[in-house]
Amino acid sequence: YRCEAVEMERTLAMIKPDGLSGKYTEAIKEVILDSGFHIVKETEVQLDAERASVFYAEHSQRSFFDSLVKYITSGPVLAMVLERPDAVAQWRTLIGPTDAKKAKTSHPNSIRAMCGLDSEKNCVHGSDSPESADREISFFFGEAESVTVEHDEL
Ligand code: ADP
Ligand code: MG
Repeated sequence: YRCEAVEMERTLAMIKPDGLSGKYTEAIKEVILDSGFHIVKETEVQLDAERASVFYAEHSQRSFFDSLVKYITSGPVLAMVLERPDAVAQWRTLIGPTDAKKAKTSHPNSIRAMCGLDSEKNCVHGSDSPESADREISFFFGEAESVTVEHDEL
């Protein structure tokens, strides 16, 4: 037989303030676990405008930036590290397109269709690449993980 190594990957998922206040946390976690992800860690935090601006720095020149910062700081968020093979792409597929209103017709089974409202209030976040995932996991959980030896290197 052939022994194929299954490479685990991590991504950063975040339930945004509308998802938390709308009591969607349990429903979202059910989708996460039913989809083969392991929730490695989680933390509920209230971001301030400065931290939110760092998290969304790539959008700082966009017209919606101020509104986005106001939205994401309007209440606590729940950040989670999710793990499974191909975690980044798999989580992006599960959450659906950015515009939750469009998701309701184009991707009715997506998480954003379930609990989002429009192109801003879309209830969940997902890293868009493994590089973004590394940065975003460090943003919420610190750098400690990167110096931890998690597997035998013999
Ligand atoms: P995604 O979260 O799907 O990766 P983006 O990275 O493009 O989407 O945008 C980050 C977040 O900014 C979105 O999830 C949404 O909350 C908000 N946003 C994106 N586009 C718009 C828009 N046109 N108007 C208002 N808010 C937006
Ligand atoms: Mg994005």
